[in-house]
Amino acid sequence: MAKINDNFIKIPATYLFSEIAKRVENYKAANPQADIIRMGIGDVTRPLPKAAVEALKAAADEQLASATFRGYGPEQGYDFLRETIVKSDYEPLGIKLDTDEVFVSDGAKSDTGNIGDILSRDNIIAVTDPVYPVYVDTNVMAGRGGNLAADGKWSNIQYLPCLPENGFEPQLPKGKIDVVYLCYPNNPTGTTLTKAQLKKWVDYALENDVLILFDAAYKAFITESDVPHSIYEIAGAKECAIEFCSFSKTAGFTGTRCGYTVVPKELKATAENGEKIALNRLWNRRQTTKFNGTAYVIQRAAEAVYSPEGKRQVQESIDYYMNNARIIKNGLETAGYKVFGAVNAPYIWLKTPAGLKSWEFFDYLLTEKNIVGTPGVGFGPSGEGFLRLTAFGSTENTIRAVERLKK
Ligand SMILES: *Cc1c(COP(=O)(O)O)cnc(C)c1O
Repeated sequence: MAKINDNFIKIPATYLFSEIAKRVENYKAANPQADIIRMGIGDVTRPLPKAAVEALKAAADEQLASATFRGYGPEQGYDFLRETIVKSDYEPLGIKLDTDEVFVSDGAKSDTGNIGDILSRDNIIAVTDPVYPVYVDTNVMAGRGGNLAADGKWSNIQYLPCLPENGFEPQLPKGKIDVVYLCYPNNPTGTTLTKAQLKKWVDYALENDVLILFDAAYKAFITESDVPHSIYEIAGAKECAIEFCSFSKTAGFTGTRCGYTVVPKELKATAENGEKIALNRLWNRRQTTKFNGTAYVIQRAAEAVYSPEGKRQVQESIDYYMNNARIIKNGLETAGYKVFGAVNAPYIWLKTPAGLKSWEFFDYLLTEKNIVGTPGVGFGPSGEGFLRLTAFGSTENTIRAVERLKK
């Protein structure tokens, strides 16, 4: 009989979103007339930029003629997109990259999950708490979790609490770690690190031979000037960090699927025999073996996001979401809530009132206000006592929800 990867049975079933759905369904069944506003949604709602759809259609038409038909493409992505990414996302920040340091993919979830393939099982992993669950679960699947304790923490993973008390700035780990995931602007808290705060992490990583896995999925939402759009804005980061980016939240590609990962050639990690090995080479080997490239038509759509019209259309959607975020933040603050995030990210991290637990406050909002949020504790133990609201809904519903919350 084949043997399974036992790590999979250690992981509890993903309980957060199914439990939310169940509670909403139960409430609706008992209150069929209720007008429920969903603000837990982690998906975009605005359509794709027109420029991207036009490019997608033109690329589809190319598939009708043998002269322009495309079969297998390069596993790492087409040069037209890799070059555009280097020129448009990095050159303006003063960051020089070679195209072969950029790997196009079907999204940042896959890459943040798959990156563990090139890392030893023995690494000690650190995550911020609360956290995007993919980082934790994929490491548990790979055998780096240890055991799940009653406090909701995996015994081999270091949790770095991000709370109002520390300004949501994760403190440098006390014990030895090998790899740390940083996501800024952050999902779920919507908070950021300034350049100076991120520099502390880069300096720490260089001094302690730590690999930083930097998730920049929300960089397009940054409005403040001292918040870095890329970790490579910090000197030395190319020697210690991989950066993950996505068109999902930036350009509405959650269903269209495209992202990219930067693995600088300077970046090395240690082999068992002590030799320092370039991770770019390993990631290239991993991708060429297990991934056959993002669809040509999708890469053309992603390229169009950087055209002048594409940029304008993308900015319109981001402005739309960030206007929602402002409405929520201002409304809640007026109502006396303690609110974090919402300035450089489409997420609002809300302290529950009167010491309520995350799920108690979730139930209160559902039954008294007919608003659905996401309980903060679902993102990690330090999320207890918080709730996440998102700005991805319509402005009309956002305004209605805020009016209810103010009452
Ligand atoms: C949405 C999101 C992503 C993007 O994932 P895709 O697979 O590119 O859609 C990555 N990281 C975080 C933290 C996210 O919230």
